[in-house]
Amino acid sequence: MSATKYIFVTGGVTSSLGKGIIAASLAKLLQARGYSVTIQKLDPYINIDPGTLNPYEHGECYVTDDGAETDLDLGHYERFLNRPTSQANNVTTGRIYQSVIDKERKGEFLGKTVQVIPHITDEIKYRIKLLGNTGEFELVITEIGGTVGDIEALPYIEAVRQLKWELGEDCMVIHLTLIPFLAATGELKTKPTQHSVKTLLESGLQPDILVCRTQMALSDEIKRKLALFCNVKKEAVIEARDAETIYAVPILMSKERLDEVVLKRLNLPYNNEPDLDNWKDFLYRLKYPKAEVSIGLVGKYVELKDSYKSIAEAFIHAGAANECKVNIRWIHSDRLESVNVEEDMKGLDGVLVAPGFGERGFEGKLEMVRYARENKVPFLGICLGMQAAVIEFARNVLKLEGANSTEINPETKHPVIALMNDQKSIVNKGGTMRLGACDCELKEGSKAYDVYHRKVISERHRHRYEFNNRYFQQFEENGMQMTGINPDSGLVEIVELLDHPWFVGVQFHPEYKSTVARPHPLFVHFIAAVLASAHNPN
Ligand code: GLN
Repeated sequence: MSATKYIFVTGGVTSSLGKGIIAASLAKLLQARGYSVTIQKLDPYINIDPGTLNPYEHGECYVTDDGAETDLDLGHYERFLNRPTSQANNVTTGRIYQSVIDKERKGEFLGKTVQVIPHITDEIKYRIKLLGNTGEFELVITEIGGTVGDIEALPYIEAVRQLKWELGEDCMVIHLTLIPFLAATGELKTKPTQHSVKTLLESGLQPDILVCRTQMALSDEIKRKLALFCNVKKEAVIEARDAETIYAVPILMSKERLDEVVLKRLNLPYNNEPDLDNWKDFLYRLKYPKAEVSIGLVGKYVELKDSYKSIAEAFIHAGAANECKVNIRWIHSDRLESVNVEEDMKGLDGVLVAPGFGERGFEGKLEMVRYARENKVPFLGICLGMQAAVIEFARNVLKLEGANSTEINPETKHPVIALMNDQKSIVNKGGTMRLGACDCELKEGSKAYDVYHRKVISERHRHRYEFNNRYFQQFEENGMQMTGINPDSGLVEIVELLDHPWFVGVQFHPEYKSTVARPHPLFVHFIAAVLASAHNPN
């Protein structure tokens, strides 16, 4: 294979323009033309990874197979490309500095003064090239977090400048920018873009393509003006209109020929059109559903939808698979402690209790589980949601008064959920949970087996507490079955109720593995069960 080509995506004017979606859409188009491509995100913050960040700060923490706690954009990359990412796909300033400082302590710099240039920039370049050096990818797209002009992003921009110098034609920059519409004069304005390109130029970086977020069409005149002031070809000024769904962006970008301009610039063949048949089929099913259901998503960070990004997206995939629109009603678990759950359940066809940490809102989650169990409402519990299902069953069916997780009440008389042994001596919070892919063996004849149609599955984890196997038999004898077990450790991974149309709790996170091409079977079956019961109200 010839040398890997590198595409960088920077952002200008404002944050939240959707660099991740543009990067993922471009990658999708290149993949659909037969190229092997991956995407990487460089995050300028000083945390080592987002694992210790409050979801209110940074949205969901996405977990890869190899157990990296990463930025939620990696979720988009996987959902679009249907290819797993890894630790190498997400790098933070904290991690860069940590490895440079570790090397300094080991004396690897042979007495030199350690500086941002060249030591930090060398480390950044090394991390960028890691994916290319695997030999697996013809193209590596690297998204640089933050906005051009931010102090934190400077070493990254400098590293890209150096790489562009080293790699020449094999390296290019796409700048994502905003063309605001000024209602007072009824015009689209190009000045903020001119300024942000100027800021890039001050750092020695000339973008090759401008992708312009805009509410309305860019006239030829505006494109010409942008091209002239920003030193790019007119065909390299790409209009990116607001889309109905993020999944429509690859189609929009294909119409604007973003992939073609990129391939031309990198001297790669672009004769065959991207094969987007399956993608379009998915979009069609998304747009024209034949049914509609409403799911209550119970969590404690529901004000910020990004906190449960992968779950929301998995519902979109599973909805399309079932030709059904899935409405999510976000229910704050704090609230459930003070109000009548029945009120909140009105109009809902299914319940998902979300992952989470800590005590706040937990009793509300238990109330919701109880309602779903007693009223035979389809239920899916994920991680803390599965633990809530176990605790609710212990308290209300097994009559183990005050049963709890030791995370929530360390003094509980009935610790049905307890700290894993290998977690007991851990002091550091970052990267120390049970993380990443683990095998799980399914019990034949169970709902889980029906869902996966396989004896052994692999799913991703992010937790410290587990089902306490001391209670195993008591649960099974009373109707809660342990239908997924880790074959190496004996840890319980899946619980389900016998006497219920569809009640499943999973200790792992299925949502991380749902993609457009492969909607996750647990979500697909959950929605199918919801559809079946919604048409057949009990
Ligand atoms: N707080 C629980 C644990 O650590 C659940 C974690 C989660 O939901 N991701 O085990």
